[in-house]
Amino acid sequence: MKTIPTVFGSITGDELGIVDYHEHLCFDAPAWLLREDRDFALNDVEKSAAELRTWAQAGGKTIIEMSAIDFGRCIEKVRRVAELVPEVNIIVITGFNKPYYCDRWVWDTPEAELVRRCVRDITHGIDGTDTKAGIVKGGSGYNTMNEFDRKLLRIAAKVHQETGVPIITHTEAGTMGWEQVEVLVGEGVAPQCICLSHMDRNPDFYLHRRIAAAGVYLGYDCAGKVKYGPDEVRINVLKRLIDAGLGGQILLGNDLGRPSYWRSYGGGPGLDFVLTKFIPRLRDEGIREEAIQDLLVNNPRRFLVGD
Ligand SMILES: [Zn+2]
Repeated sequence: MKTIPTVFGSITGDELGIVDYHEHLCFDAPAWLLREDRDFALNDVEKSAAELRTWAQAGGKTIIEMSAIDFGRCIEKVRRVAELVPEVNIIVITGFNKPYYCDRWVWDTPEAELVRRCVRDITHGIDGTDTKAGIVKGGSGYNTMNEFDRKLLRIAAKVHQETGVPIITHTEAGTMGWEQVEVLVGEGVAPQCICLSHMDRNPDFYLHRRIAAAGVYLGYDCAGKVKYGPDEVRINVLKRLIDAGLGGQILLGNDLGRPSYWRSYGGGPGLDFVLTKFIPRLRDEGIREEAIQDLLVNNPRRFLVGD
């Protein structure tokens, strides 16, 4: 049986429960990024742990911490959060988020060496710890698919091929999703091993149907972020995908990568928004319970376990 690595040891598919496929719990954003935007200072272990507890109380069981190497992944802080909230399984990742975040060394280092570094995160552990990554990330910029974007996606594809861990990408405002699939599949990655994040930033039914019908997973992770449009829009596309028989291809997360999204840091909508507000609304809007169980439990399980 395939097991999934978490911060403190491996678990089986049965232990996954309700999954948030794309989250940020605690990281140390690069200094230049913090100078540009203080709203990336999501770095307080106690505050993150306090709010993660509310997510567990709302029924959450497994969370994927999507902070990549270039975004300031901090395995020590994530491990401390995990120690404080042992009731939640935390899966961590390797790989890179998007070219804009990457320092010079990412471009100066040969691709094969970056692949080796990421593979080591999966086979040996991250930054001298025994915590192994269970996902590899890649990503591209807003409406671009240049040599930098391609390099990050190729690294993810090669790491996946060496280790078997699934790929979750960053899309900028939901753009270039189909092009990412073309690059990854072109590198030999099976569609069911790919999930594209932030696709509900670009709630375009035609595009989502095309990607889902190809067997790729669509990540919806903007519920409650009204600056990215009202939930009505993403729910309408979600419903149409479910009606088209493609509800099995959607993963849900909340992607709270900024302290202003967290109640414990003085903001909102809060880490439990999907479970306490969005899911009840889906029920209220007529989405059947089986479809909701797919979104929360069955789809991420299939994606992570690979069957
Ligand atoms: Zn994110």
